[in-house]
Amino acid sequence: MDEFPFYELTRKNIQSLEAYIAKDIPCRIKLDANESPYCPISIDSISSMKEFFLSLNRYPDPEAKELKKLLSKNLNIAPENLLLGNGSDEIICYLITTFGGPILYPSPTFVMYAIASQASGQKHRAIPLDEHFDLDIDKILKTIKKEKPKLIFLSSPNNPTGNCFSTEKILKIIESSKNIVVIDEAYQPFSSKRGFLPLLKDYPNLAILRTFSKIGLAAIRTGFLIGHENLIREVNKVRLPYNIGSLPQAIAIEAIRNKKVISEHIKAIIKERERLFKELSLLEGVKPFPSEANFILFKVKDAENIHKKLIEKGILVRYMGNALKDSLRVTVGTPEENNAFIDSLKDIIDKLKNK
Ligand SMILES: *Cc1c(COP(=O)(O)O)cnc(C)c1O
Repeated sequence: MDEFPFYELTRKNIQSLEAYIAKDIPCRIKLDANESPYCPISIDSISSMKEFFLSLNRYPDPEAKELKKLLSKNLNIAPENLLLGNGSDEIICYLITTFGGPILYPSPTFVMYAIASQASGQKHRAIPLDEHFDLDIDKILKTIKKEKPKLIFLSSPNNPTGNCFSTEKILKIIESSKNIVVIDEAYQPFSSKRGFLPLLKDYPNLAILRTFSKIGLAAIRTGFLIGHENLIREVNKVRLPYNIGSLPQAIAIEAIRNKKVISEHIKAIIKERERLFKELSLLEGVKPFPSEANFILFKVKDAENIHKKLIEKGILVRYMGNALKDSLRVTVGTPEENNAFIDSLKDIIDKLKNK
């Protein structure tokens, strides 16, 4: 029998997509995915989740009421202003399903905005950042006027550049557009800036994305959207029932109850980030960019080769490929991991120089 024509049956916008392969290169030291090196849940606390284990035969609470109650109390908002997702990735898809395109975002930035737009067959536009990795406000305002994007995604702090965009520029975008502006604050806990939560009251078209993934709980795939109750009501129409499993709910609840542990971890990571930045600055031919997140982007000649040589030494960082020439992104790890990374990088650069 001839091969079944699955590819031909696939929608055109999906045909041109490639599966997002989270490369799983086994390495002793994993500094490629902006995870936290610390887990905030201890084995002891599992006993407090006993009831969840005993009811694994049941569907989870479809509204995740207890988790929402705790979260909203912590954020000082109403539960009606909150929507939970299986990672913020899922919420990005929900937003696009709900409001459609065109979708606008800067470049380089988090790849899911482009992937989710393409997958849902919506028009999407990437506007290059300026030479300071800040928003090209003139170009963005022009594009808003001309193409009237329904959704604008701004990751601040931005992944992979690590900086926050200028607040005035973001405000201009929010004020100039009759569209929804989503500030993706996945890395906000690591930032010295205040973030946009206090401005929600002033701007109904502003929504904020947060996640547990970068603060020590990537495994539970839980993110949340904060916004006007009418916006949340619309997005909630496309939310899959039971999209947050029981165990993720239980673990997130436990983590919020012990939020002091998470803030200690964040403090330690910020301290290490500053040290790592200094160490990188001292290396010849390495130019790190200041970061408000839990990773550092740096320029180095021969980045692809250095990436490979680091893997040979058991250290995995992210090679930025064509998105950013000659650049690597390193996640801040434990002091020991960071030392191993710096020592290896130094060694590799020295050897390349003396060749
Ligand atoms: C990592 C990352 C996310 C992913 O969040 P999940 O909750 O794990 O889906 C979202 N936005 C940005 C900018 C990120 O870097």
